[in-house]
Amino acid sequence: MTIKLYNTLTRKKTEFVPIVPGHVGLYTCGPTVYDYQHIGNMRAYITWDILKRFFLSQRFDVTHVMNVTDVGHLTSDADEGEDKLELAKKRERLSAWDVASKYFDYFREDLERVNILPPTFYAKATDFIDDQIAFTKRMEERGFLYRTSDGMYFDTSKVPNYGKIGSLDVKGLMAGKRVALNPEKKNATDFAVWKFSPKDSKRDMEWDSPWGKGFPGWHLECSVISRKFLGDTFDIHTGGIDHATVHHPNEMAQTWAVTNKEQARFWLHNNFINFKDKKMSKSAGTFVRLVDMITGGVGPLSYRYFVMQTHYRKEIAYSWEAIRAADQGLKNIYRELSFYGMPDNGCEDLLQKFNEALADDLNTAKALDLVQKVIGSKSPSGGKLRTLFMMDEVLGLRFRDEWERRRNLPHISMALLEEREKARKNRDWARADAIRKKLLDYRIEVKDTNEGQQAALTE
Ligand code: AMP
Ligand code: ZN
Repeated sequence: MTIKLYNTLTRKKTEFVPIVPGHVGLYTCGPTVYDYQHIGNMRAYITWDILKRFFLSQRFDVTHVMNVTDVGHLTSDADEGEDKLELAKKRERLSAWDVASKYFDYFREDLERVNILPPTFYAKATDFIDDQIAFTKRMEERGFLYRTSDGMYFDTSKVPNYGKIGSLDVKGLMAGKRVALNPEKKNATDFAVWKFSPKDSKRDMEWDSPWGKGFPGWHLECSVISRKFLGDTFDIHTGGIDHATVHHPNEMAQTWAVTNKEQARFWLHNNFINFKDKKMSKSAGTFVRLVDMITGGVGPLSYRYFVMQTHYRKEIAYSWEAIRAADQGLKNIYRELSFYGMPDNGCEDLLQKFNEALADDLNTAKALDLVQKVIGSKSPSGGKLRTLFMMDEVLGLRFRDEWERRRNLPHISMALLEEREKARKNRDWARADAIRKKLLDYRIEVKDTNEGQQAALTE
């Protein structure tokens, strides 16, 4: 099957051909662990989980690497302001190290809640300081760095096509106000690779380096970690669309400075979850977490389902009503499949179409339509069930768990179901109906299908 993906770098949807046949090297920019992740962040991780699961379902091996930013991400992405971890440390009265480990734990819990497969490797920025220093030395030797009073900066004018990925108007930016923020920068788009520790205070996280005591800039870790685990050039690099304008151009520039090669072949970006027409963000205070939804009575997998209803390159407006509707939609699917008999062959044509939808730049909205087509099909239920289970390898909505759970009826229902079967044979509809009602008291629903009587838990 031909898999086509939209590459932000070329602005085209093109065929994906892996560097090593049968293998995908995938890198996802991970969380900054200074606070809880919101559901906007979760959209990014859900999207790349579906991409990964799709490759796995197509029998690719996937090496998936995710960095964990536990140092160096400043309050402004353009190297201004305070380190987010140092800021959180004051807020929480914990060391920066403890803040990082606390929110990394929360992050992993959230991923599990929405059934995201863990990456092959998590890589914390602070675990790769030596590599980052060695990488920075290479950039310096090759003439890409210059010193300012607060750190070593990367000279973006030395990189041909800098900013191409984000369609950056580099000249416009030169004239723009970002220069005014740091007069020592040679170009507006230049960024810190190594920041010096402040002279008047001690940071929790700082290291000696050939340039002075300090800490790595935020972009550095991704160039270093991706190269370490996936090589100079790998297959796919993913992240939120905000990364296309600052973080990813900078990653690419650093890698190019050291290897003279392109960092990744495909660059994929998910669009935002918006709150009142603006990107949901911590700094704007428009911050909804998965646990807020759970408190409101909506399961985390319903959020996963909600995200999949829209193509990943389109914006999604956050609305509680829409999330509630998705929750109902997913429950309806669970209810339908709970009456299906044992999984069996069938519906292969719909599975094929489902895979084609995903192979077309991950069209999850169409893939979910095909789930509905399976449910609506006249095929025997076992075939429908097996097809849904196979689709769910990619969707990750736990169809099998839910089917098993709902079919696991309490013992007390067995005699009643047998009795009802007999009543039906004797055409004693009144008795059959009375038993159906009684079963409902035990939260068991019975359906008379053309494959016989089927019973399942109602929720
Ligand atoms: P951060 O922890 O801020 O570095 O963000 C983690 C990931 O979430 C990055 O890939 C961001 O691009 C992405 N992201 C941040 N905000 C949103 C949003 N509102 N909607 C979708 N993705 C987002
Ligand atoms: Zn990154």
